[in-house]
Amino acid sequence: MRRRFDRPPCAQEAKTVMQIVFIGPPGAGKGTQCERLRKYLGIAHLSTGDMLRQAKADQTEIGKLVTEFLDSGRLVPDPVIEKIVAERLQQPDCARGCLFDGFPRTLGQAQSLDQLLASLNLPLDAVLNLSVSESELLERLLGRGRGDDKPDTIRQRLRDFDSLTKPLLDYYRDHRVLHHVDGMGTPDEVFQRIKTVVDQLRG
Ligand code: AMP
Repeated sequence: MRRRFDRPPCAQEAKTVMQIVFIGPPGAGKGTQCERLRKYLGIAHLSTGDMLRQAKADQTEIGKLVTEFLDSGRLVPDPVIEKIVAERLQQPDCARGCLFDGFPRTLGQAQSLDQLLASLNLPLDAVLNLSVSESELLERLLGRGRGDDKPDTIRQRLRDFDSLTKPLLDYYRDHRVLHHVDGMGTPDEVFQRIKTVVDQLRG
């Protein structure tokens, strides 16, 4: 009987530990697609928005600090975000790889992620840019009904995306890890496009 450790090394074996960043405006479907990809790859899903909403609900120190930012749709200061991400990356499930959803959102955060991953000896495998038309975004956000999905807050979040997060596309293009994914259509259609990109990267 062949035991697991007798298996010959196989150059074609799919890469299982991956670090993937999702970039896209609010409403682009990052959360939905990350959940699907989490199940498909069996790696952790790190959503800074979810972590902050949880901290707010639990009224932790960080939760109290970020409440006004969440309620107004403004970005939480980089040092706060960088701290919660660094802590989250220490958790055991992240050893299998991580999907970064809603982080990084500024150039400072992107540089900080590079340093964090370098310190863990991990490469950033891919950055997926999910694009969706503005009319579709508004329709999705207003239909979602989350606490911060109000017209004023949505406008603020879209403005921040344009001015602070979009520059990351140049940053990651220069680092040769950027892939564009059409985020229009049904969740299944979008996931098929993501899977095609990821399967190619896994080899
Ligand atoms: P999200 O669920 O990703 O749309 O995030 C909801 C809110 O959490 C945002 O509007 C920000 O106030 C805050 N937030 C989430 N991620 C970040 C981040 N990487 N940097 C700064 N603020 C963030």
